[in-house]
Amino acid sequence: MRRIIAIDGPAGSGKSTTARLVAERLRFLYLDTGAMYRAITLKALEEGIDLKNEEELEELALDSKIEFRKQNSNTQVFIDGEDVTSKIRDPLIDRNVSLASKHRKLREVLVGWQRQMGEKNDLVAEGRDTTTVVFPDALVKVYLDCDLKERAKRRLLEFKQKGIPSTLKEQSRELSTRDKFDSGRKVSPLLQDRDAVVVDTTDLTIEQQVQKVIEVYQKILKAYEKAL
Ligand code: C5P
Repeated sequence: MRRIIAIDGPAGSGKSTTARLVAERLRFLYLDTGAMYRAITLKALEEGIDLKNEEELEELALDSKIEFRKQNSNTQVFIDGEDVTSKIRDPLIDRNVSLASKHRKLREVLVGWQRQMGEKNDLVAEGRDTTTVVFPDALVKVYLDCDLKERAKRRLLEFKQKGIPSTLKEQSRELSTRDKFDSGRKVSPLLQDRDAVVVDTTDLTIEQQVQKVIEVYQKILKAYEKAL
């Protein structure tokens, strides 16, 4: 059995950093599903594809090759051989990715690739639907939550570090718009899965978040092995 830890939660709750570090410590593969939706959004914008056009987005995805390549402790994201790691974090992608990711046909293509990775590897997957749709039978399911104000503060700091001007208000508005879109959409909305362990990260450091998820994993694994 492949060991899968699935982590969902709203934008800015610390999923990426937590999932990456948990994967590193357990020597599992790290699967950033959001990066896949971001890469397709970037390519669609560059090719002038209307993000409302579900069929064209599906076709674009079927014609694309998304790869994750590990370089030291960082994972680089490639689409069709081009390194888009930085480009997919641009505010333009933040503003547009939810428009693309709401389409069922596009999701089916990406979810298929995500499941293939889960068949071959022990992994930590993070996104919006990894606990509910992609890996409903994951060994461990975690829902990372966090106050909007704290999430906006974290995002603002990230933007500052990259030298992108922004304000707390702007970040707060962008995150809450994306939350509404991701939670309110018809296909695979962001939901707290029934079996998920909720971890509120508002007052936690990254190290505490990572420790918490590893503790949850170890506890569930022990119970699972005992039951065998
Ligand atoms: O996690 P991240 O902020 O990079 O995700 C970017 C966007 O991709 C989300 O706001 C959401 O619209 C979409 N997404 C999704 N399903 C996933 C992961 C991300 O719809 N599993």
